[in-house]
Amino acid sequence: MKLLIKCKSCNRYIEIKEKALTRSELEDKIGDYFTKSCDHCNQPNEYHVNDVEAVGTDEIKRVGRYAAILIAAGCFYFAKGDRAIIFLGLFIAGAIFIGSRRLADAQSNVDIFNSIYIKERRQESKT
Ligand SMILES: [Zn+2]
Repeated sequence: MKLLIKCKSCNRYIEIKEKALTRSELEDKIGDYFTKSCDHCNQPNEYHVNDVEAVGTDEIKRVGRYAAILIAAGCFYFAKGDRAIIFLGLFIAGAIFIGSRRLADAQSNVDIFNSIYIKERRQESKT
């Protein structure tokens, strides 16, 4: 999962290097308002944690699933009945498939991050 923010000056996405699973965790690390310089136009701007968007790594998940199917199919084809090679191939394919499922779990983290906002602190006036 990557955390991105859209630059207020050039509208391109900047990656936030801090790792966090939720907005409140990100707030603990960098504060509710933070200043970030753009990687593209070098313009520093102030952002709120609620402006941050999480994106998943969908491509890797898809490639992992295809690789698992290809390895399994390839093993059946090349093993020519050799059970040891079929077993080894299925083991590797299974490991890759489980790896891509782990990344599928990361996708649900993306949804959680994007659906939960932190409460904006309002300036309280003491009367
Ligand atoms: Zn920019």
